[in-house]
Amino acid sequence: MKFLSDLRLKLTKNGFQAYRANQVFKDLFKKGIDDYNEMTTLPADVKELLGKNMPIFSIHPVQENKSSDGATNKILFKLSDDSLIEAVLMKFNDGRNTVCVSSQVGCAMNCKFCATGTLSFTRNLTYEEIADQVLYFSLILNKTGERINHVVYMGMGEPFMNYDEMSKSINMLRDSVALNIGSRNITVSTCGIIPGIKKFSKEFDQVNLAISLHAPSDEIRNEIMPISKKYPLDQLMKTCEDYIQTTHRRITFEYVMLAGINDSEKNAYELASLLRGMLCLVNIIPYNETSIKNIKGSDKKKINKFKNVLLSNHIQVTVRVSLGQDINAACGQLAGKK
Ligand code: SAH
Repeated sequence: MKFLSDLRLKLTKNGFQAYRANQVFKDLFKKGIDDYNEMTTLPADVKELLGKNMPIFSIHPVQENKSSDGATNKILFKLSDDSLIEAVLMKFNDGRNTVCVSSQVGCAMNCKFCATGTLSFTRNLTYEEIADQVLYFSLILNKTGERINHVVYMGMGEPFMNYDEMSKSINMLRDSVALNIGSRNITVSTCGIIPGIKKFSKEFDQVNLAISLHAPSDEIRNEIMPISKKYPLDQLMKTCEDYIQTTHRRITFEYVMLAGINDSEKNAYELASLLRGMLCLVNIIPYNETSIKNIKGSDKKKINKFKNVLLSNHIQVTVRVSLGQDINAACGQLAGKK
């Protein structure tokens, strides 16, 4: 669904009253009615105009994949140009209902361990295509009286390479007459696009920022994340310091554990010294196996050791709970199969 203001404009341009748009938004976002024909307050000619010119959904589900425990649901969506993207709903025991959204079709960043990186980049998503991923799940949950309360930009694509549409989509998600998701319940994850981080710190200081760090040095980072040649670690860390200065918000550094690449005790000490004194959290991510050759995840013992080094150096750490492995919904594995 497009912005309320676009809907109002479309209506007034066609001689209808703008408040009809508010009725649509109320029916769609509050009551969960996703068909203009079922919106009983609308006159027939308004239904016809909107049905023809303002489809409620810009994306269409073509495949559903629920995990055996029901905690995750991955949907493959088709876009108007037949491109495919995926989004995942994760229902956590603590009541969080989180949608992981894609921001691009494919990705141009080419991280060596990431399944999306092995696909080529096709195009940016529009804000509507991003927000509709959340709307889709929100309508499902609406039926049982639940709602989506968290959104993470951790699906396919690099959100900061699609900055404008990403920011519009955040505004759509936050809109109190639409999905009404709190800024602090939205997290954008980037591989370290410095200009994007700078802009974001000024424009979205209440939205959470996560940075895919994955290495304590340029040497290792260059090997697994080509973007780090463009935005080296010292510049990235300086930008992170500035971000914290501006927003007074903690940064989450994601660190995916790759056997023999970035998971040694030495690497943990290097990471600890890189982050010492910084307002941050390290989110250690157990690697979800993909079909990529030469990349394996670290074992539990390695992960624990790594975590303990960070803890003993007073760095805040969490280890990500991985959901949805049986449906290939784990991060970086979206839409690769088709
Ligand atoms: N482009 C953004 C967001 C998409 S990926 C970014 O780079 O942050 C979301 C997270 O999943 C990133 O930290 C990414 O490095 C990580 N990831 C990718 N493939 C993974 C895999 N197979 N297992 C675990 N994490 C993975």
